[in-house]
Amino acid sequence: MLKVHSRCDLSCDHCYVYQHADQTWRGRPVRMSAATAQSAARRIAEHAREHELPVVHVVLHGGEPLLLGAAGLRELLAELRAAITPWTRLDLRMQTNGVLLDEELCRLFVEYDVQVGVSFDGDRAANDRHRVFAHGGSSHDHVRRALALLRRPEFRASYAGILCTIDVRNDPDRVYEALLAESPPRVDLLLPHATWDHPPLRPGSEPTPYATWLGRLHRRWVDDGRPVSIRMFEALRPGGGGTEAFGLAPADVLVIEADGSWEQVDSLKTAYHGAADTGFDVFDNSVDEAARHPGVAIRQDGADGLCATCRACPVVDRCGGGLYAHRWRTGSGFDNPSVYCPDLLRLIDTVDAYPPPTPPAPADRSATSPVDELLDDLATGHGSASTLALLAATQLSITRALLAACRDRSGTTAAWELLVHLDRAAPEAVRAVLEHPFVRAGLVHRLDSSAPPGLSAAVDPLPAIATAAALRAGVPATLHVPVRADAITLPTLGSLVLPGLTESAEVTVRPGELQVRGGSVEQTVLLDPLAPPSASWRPTRDVAVPGGRVLLEDGDPYRDCYGQPVESRLEGPAARALGRTLAAAWEVVHRDVPAHAAALDGGLRAVVPLAPDPARPLRSATARHAFGAVAVTPHPDPETMAVLLVHEWQHAKLGAVLDLYDLVEPGESTRIRVPWRPDPRPPEGVLQGVYAHLAVTQVWQSRAATDPGDASAHAAHFLGWTRDGVDALLASRSLSAAGERFVGQLRHALEETVVGSR
Ligand code: SF4
Ligand code: SF4
Repeated sequence: MLKVHSRCDLSCDHCYVYQHADQTWRGRPVRMSAATAQSAARRIAEHAREHELPVVHVVLHGGEPLLLGAAGLRELLAELRAAITPWTRLDLRMQTNGVLLDEELCRLFVEYDVQVGVSFDGDRAANDRHRVFAHGGSSHDHVRRALALLRRPEFRASYAGILCTIDVRNDPDRVYEALLAESPPRVDLLLPHATWDHPPLRPGSEPTPYATWLGRLHRRWVDDGRPVSIRMFEALRPGGGGTEAFGLAPADVLVIEADGSWEQVDSLKTAYHGAADTGFDVFDNSVDEAARHPGVAIRQDGADGLCATCRACPVVDRCGGGLYAHRWRTGSGFDNPSVYCPDLLRLIDTVDAYPPPTPPAPADRSATSPVDELLDDLATGHGSASTLALLAATQLSITRALLAACRDRSGTTAAWELLVHLDRAAPEAVRAVLEHPFVRAGLVHRLDSSAPPGLSAAVDPLPAIATAAALRAGVPATLHVPVRADAITLPTLGSLVLPGLTESAEVTVRPGELQVRGGSVEQTVLLDPLAPPSASWRPTRDVAVPGGRVLLEDGDPYRDCYGQPVESRLEGPAARALGRTLAAAWEVVHRDVPAHAAALDGGLRAVVPLAPDPARPLRSATARHAFGAVAVTPHPDPETMAVLLVHEWQHAKLGAVLDLYDLVEPGESTRIRVPWRPDPRPPEGVLQGVYAHLAVTQVWQSRAATDPGDASAHAAHFLGWTRDGVDALLASRSLSAAGERFVGQLRHALEETVVGSR
């Protein structure tokens, strides 16, 4: 949060900046100087770069940020974009009272993609109870004029919503109607800042007037079909994700004051003079240093950072002790429940008393085509076993088609004829080889005329495929098989590494035996597991997992299709360690998300170890031409590995769907901003992202049932990403009709995920 101007043109009597305990504003410069803005932008960029953050949110705040004027704001926005966007996605926002908003400023905000939130407390009586000029005059018409500007089609993209501070003396129905009349994309309701030293106004004898007031507004909202997103109500639902004011997610806000001081979240100004101070500034201190301040660090601890009463509270995962500032009491500091505690408890009860939002109606299944049914099934987030079988079958068809295309490039027909014969005599053996994930990758490589010149581009993969099938079938055969880097690799079986082989070797297979002749080499390898091991034969290794067996694929030359360095053959202990982690991770997937486990069992056949990279210890990948395999860094923790497997398997499934259907309009060049990447993404990339994140959300939500701390925070984090991505995709108008249907159903699954986590 950047406090770009420390004075205001309104004089609201509920303002925590000027009217509450902290008065540090008096000693601050009126506006943030260019030098301070530059240092702030550099600090943010430095932090984003060092931590490889996918996104940074910067909120221009005050006082009143519009007092900076159009020229000052343009300079500041340009500085922020220039410094930060090379390193991360910059989500720019502003919170304003709206009084000075005009067309020129709106154009500027659209140009710099700034989302503008306006503070507005409702109908005239409600708004002007507090939000007035110093001379006492009303701000109501000024703010409504600003909201009308933001509603105009050309500026609507910059309209973020309304921030409304409630007052229980106002009529909740009239406030609700006044807010809705402004068609905001989102409404934030704020409890008036108060502490145990200065408790909130409670007129009359009612013990929980805030719960009553908000309960009334909640009921109107539910009865109306939740026509606008109201963050407080959504955040308080089970699995709702929380906000700065609710839930256990780590606090992620730091403030840069107009003089460059790092401060804690500014609502603390309501507690005592200097409550938000850290003693650090952007000139001498990094974000990390400011974030290590005890007041910030304790807010990373979830429930452990709360008082004993809150820790024992049955709704702590949703309330999270309320807003940090509202816990303040002289003597015990912040080690208290919220001063709104009884209201919050009752409000959560109220939210629970109403049925969850009805997810968008699923499509009428009776009217769907088989295509729709397949997409609908996958849009549940995982897909059934029969859908997985169908995807695997279509992938096999594609491989067979590529095989036939390669035959036309092959210099000889011997391998093809052997395959045709085996396909009749031992179809299971051929099928087992063709289903190996890297057979298709090899065929594509062979057919790709743009492949870089080199050995692999020249290698005909058919003889090795046919030889592997013959060996599996126990059918004697002899073929000339191309050699790559002194090795012949037989998919699914292993590699024969013989230095001195020429470009091609004569390979003869007999049941349990492999004989090779080429150049100066002549060797026979017994494949009987009881025979003494051969130094030149490197068999594939597999691991028993709940779904069957999965290959540790560290030998096939076409496993380099991930655009990332792959690990060379693992030594025995490393292979066994990875095998144990994979088996344990698979169990974890069965424990956390059985529906995803079934999809994993149904299709994942091989795991490729990626080469370690100290800068990025946690990497994983999927390749469109290698269905049935995922690549991962050999991370030792099964819980982490389980998330990687589920995440990547989503990409694999969606890749198989995209082989069949255009979910994005062909030729679409739109780029969409998403929270998990700094660069705008093509629609297909966003689609892949939301499909993977939906599954990861489901994993964390399952874990949150037993670990409301970190797991809840992760679940909320991925839920937010998925929601934002799905909404951005639907708004992009880049999807085909099938894509619209698929993503619409995903949205439905997402809402059910939230409801299901109750
Ligand atoms: S508009 Fe905001 S900053 Fe200005 S006085 Fe009112 S509450 Fe305070
Ligand atoms: S309802 Fe009260 S006790 Fe429970 S978490 Fe919130 S503030 Fe703490």
